[in-house]
Amino acid sequence: MSTPQLILKQRAELLAVLCGGGSAEPLDCVLDLLLAWEVLVWEDYLSIQVAEKALNYKVRQLLDVVYDKGEDACSCLLAAMNQVLPEEQKAGLCFGEECAVVGKNRPDTATLTLLADRPVLVRKLRDNIDGALNVLLTTDCFTIKDCDVVQLPVYTPSQQVRRLLDQVRFKGETAAKTLLQFLEQTETTRPNPEDKENHPSANCMLYQKKLRSSVAAQSHTLSTYGGTGHFSLDDIYTDGLLEVMDGSGETTTLGLEDVVGPVGTLNDDADTFLVSGEAGSGKSTLLQRLHLLWAREALLTNIFLLFPFSCRKLNAEHRELSLKELLFLHCCWPDRGQDEVFQFILDHPNLVLFTFDGLDEFKQGFTDEERHCCPTKQVPIPVLLFNLLQGTLMKGVMKVVTSRPQAVGPSLKRYLRKEVLLKGFSPGGIDCFVKKHHSDPAMARRVIESLQANSVLLSLCHIPVFCWIVTKCHQELLGSQDGIPQTITDVYLLVLQHFFQRKSYQPQGVLGKAWLEEHLDTVLKLGQLALESLEASCYVFSGYELQRIGLTEQDVSMGFLIYCNDLSVTDCKRYEFLHITLQCFFAAFYLVLNRNSDRSAIYRLFQPKNKQLSGLSQRCLGHCIDSSVEGVKSHVTETPNLQITAQFVSGLLSQRHHNLLQECCPTAVRERKAKQVVKSLSKGMQRHFKSIPRPVEGEKKSMHAMPSFVWLIKCIYEMQDSSIAQDTMAKLDVEHLKLTYCNIGPVECTALAYVLKYLRNPVGLQLDNNSVGDVGVEQLLPCLHICHSL
Ligand code: ADP
Repeated sequence: MSTPQLILKQRAELLAVLCGGGSAEPLDCVLDLLLAWEVLVWEDYLSIQVAEKALNYKVRQLLDVVYDKGEDACSCLLAAMNQVLPEEQKAGLCFGEECAVVGKNRPDTATLTLLADRPVLVRKLRDNIDGALNVLLTTDCFTIKDCDVVQLPVYTPSQQVRRLLDQVRFKGETAAKTLLQFLEQTETTRPNPEDKENHPSANCMLYQKKLRSSVAAQSHTLSTYGGTGHFSLDDIYTDGLLEVMDGSGETTTLGLEDVVGPVGTLNDDADTFLVSGEAGSGKSTLLQRLHLLWAREALLTNIFLLFPFSCRKLNAEHRELSLKELLFLHCCWPDRGQDEVFQFILDHPNLVLFTFDGLDEFKQGFTDEERHCCPTKQVPIPVLLFNLLQGTLMKGVMKVVTSRPQAVGPSLKRYLRKEVLLKGFSPGGIDCFVKKHHSDPAMARRVIESLQANSVLLSLCHIPVFCWIVTKCHQELLGSQDGIPQTITDVYLLVLQHFFQRKSYQPQGVLGKAWLEEHLDTVLKLGQLALESLEASCYVFSGYELQRIGLTEQDVSMGFLIYCNDLSVTDCKRYEFLHITLQCFFAAFYLVLNRNSDRSAIYRLFQPKNKQLSGLSQRCLGHCIDSSVEGVKSHVTETPNLQITAQFVSGLLSQRHHNLLQECCPTAVRERKAKQVVKSLSKGMQRHFKSIPRPVEGEKKSMHAMPSFVWLIKCIYEMQDSSIAQDTMAKLDVEHLKLTYCNIGPVECTALAYVLKYLRNPVGLQLDNNSVGDVGVEQLLPCLHICHSL
C-alpha cells in the first residue's frame, strides 16, 4: 500500500494517537522533525499551528497538508510519528517501509540552521530558556514584550522554546546568530558526562543494570490493577495536570519531564523537588511512571542511579541504618564491588536521584533539629531521611518527594527547590483514561456519556482514584437502581459492592439487597484494622496483625488488601489497603457499625487536630506504634486521613443509606451517631464563624476561610440533607467570603454550591488560587444567585 493510502486508511488512529493524552507535545515533535527535514515549509507550519484552534483541528490539518504533498512527504510523516510516539501507542499502526531521510547539506544561514536543528534545539534549550532570553534581550534582539510572549505561563517549557525559536526566526539573521552563539558557549562550559572521571566502572554498570531491572519490574503494573493483571502502567497511564507557581504567584503548566527541570525553581541551593496533591490525585502513580521511564532510559537520561523509597515502608524500618545500608538494603543489593559502587555514588551526587513517595505517611513530621552528614554512620531512619531532604547528607543528589500539601510545613519548605502541584485529570484526561480502561470503544463511549450526563460524577472524576473506581465499577454504575452516585461515600459503596460481587457466586450484576449484612464480618474486621492503624500512622501490616484481628485468607481474597510491592530485602509478606482512601472508608465503616465503640468516638473524630491525638479507640494500638517514636508529638499524618474518614462517616450516616445499614446497626445507635455528626459539624462551623473579625468601619464584613472550613462543607455535603446545610448557613453573616488557597477543585465546588445556596444574604465569593476550572464553575451554578460577585 502506498504511504498516502496508509495515511488515509489510518486517519482516525493517527488522529487518536496524536491527540491521545490531550497534550500537544507529540504533534509539536512531529512538526519539528518535518520542518527540519524540509517536508513542511514555514507557510505550511503556520497553517497548521493556528493559535486559537483545537489540537484535533491541527492534526487534521497536518494530515491534509502532508497528504497533498504526495508519497515522499507521507513517508516522512509516518517516519516522524514512528520516531516520536512511545512503543505502546504504536501497537496496531503501520508506518510503511522504513524511509531514509536524505541527509541535506548544512544550511548556509543561521535562520535555516534553526529550522534544520529544531528537534535538537528544543531539547537543548528547554533547561536554559531564561539564559537564552537574557542574551537576546541584552543584545537588543528581543524586547521585554518578546520575552513575555515566549514565557506565557500556559506554555510548557518545550512550547516556550518553540515560541522562542519562532520569534527568533521572525527577528531575522542577527537574532538567529546570537542564539546559536549562545548555545555554542553553553555547550563548551557544561561538563561532559562522558568525561573520564564521570565514567563508571564495570561493577557500577552491572549495578545500574540490576537496579534498572528491579525498578522496571516494580513499576510495571499499577497496584490498583494488581489482581486483574491485564493492565500495565503503559496501558493505563494518563497524564495528570501539573502546575508550578513562581515567586510572583504565576502558574505554569508542566510536563512529566519538567518535574525536576528548572522551571519554577524557588531556591537554587536546594535539591528537593516536591510533588504535592490531595489523596488519590495520582502522586504515587506519577512517581511510578517516572521510575519506569528512567528504567527504560526514556527519561531522566542524565541520572545514572535512581533509588525509589516509599515512606510508608520506611515506617516499618526500626533499625538504625547508614546511608549505604539504606540504599542497598531497601533498594538493590550490589552483587559485586559494594564499596566501589558506594564510592561512585558519593563521588557523583549529580548522577543520582532519590525518590520518596508519601512523605505525609511518614510517622514523624519533618524537623531539621538534628544534623547528620556522615554516609557511613548508622542513625535512625527519620534522621537519615530528613538530612537527605535538607541536603546536609549527600548534597547535590536530586530528591523527588511526594506528599499531601497539609504535611508540608514551613520548616520543610525552606529546603525545597520547587513545589509542583498535581491537580488530577483534566476533562480531556478523564476521557483518555476511560478509553484506555475499556478496550471496547462502545463501552468507553457509554461510560463517557454517563459521566457527561452527570456533572457531579464528572467533577469527582478529576481525582484519578475516583475516576478509577467509577470506570472500574461501570457495570454497577450503568445498571444501578439506586441512582447515580452523588458523593464520595456513594462512589466507595460502589467499590465495596463491586468487590463483593466479584467473589459472589450470583450472576453478574446481581448482589442481594442484604449484601452488606452478608459481608458484615469482613467489613468490620477490615474496619478495625483500618481505624487502629490509621491512628497509629501505620499503612503496612504483617500477617500477624491480620491474624490478631481475625482476618482470614478469604477476607484477604476479596481484594481490598494487597501485597506490598517492595524492593527491600525481607522475607515476610506484608499487606496494605488498595489505596489510603479505602483504608479511611473502612475505618469509617467501623466507627459507624461497631456496637462496642466508645460513645465519644465520633465527637473526637471531628475535633480540631490538637485535641484529637488521644486516639479514637484507645485499645490495641500498641502493635502498630513503634516504641521509639511513641510519644512523638507530630502525628501530622493522621489529620488528613481522619478528615477523609470523617467525611465518609458523615456519608454513611446520611439518611440516604439508612436502608443499607438498617440490618447491620440498630436504628437508635445509627440515629445517635448521626446526631453527633450534625452537632460536631455545627460546632465546627461555629468555631469558624467566631473567628470572623468585626468589620472595620466602611469595610465589608468578611471571612477568610481555612481549609478546614472546606472540609466541614464537604462533610455536610456527604450527608445530603438540605436542612443541615440550611441551619448551618443561617448563622453565617458575612458580606465577603474569601476562599483563596483552599485547594478547591471541581469536587469541592459541588459541595460549596450545595451548602452556600442556603446563605441568607448575598456574598462576594473569592476563589483565587484554586483550581476550579470549567467543570467547577458549572458546579457552582446553584449558588450563583446568592453571590453578588465571584
Ligand atoms: P496518590 O498517591 O495521590 O494518593 P495514586 O497515585 O495512588 O494517588 O492514585 C490512585 C489510583 O488512581 C491509582 O492506583 C490509579 O488506579 C489511578 N491513577 C492515578 N494517577 C493515574 C494516572 N496518571 N493514570 C492512570 N491512573 C491513575
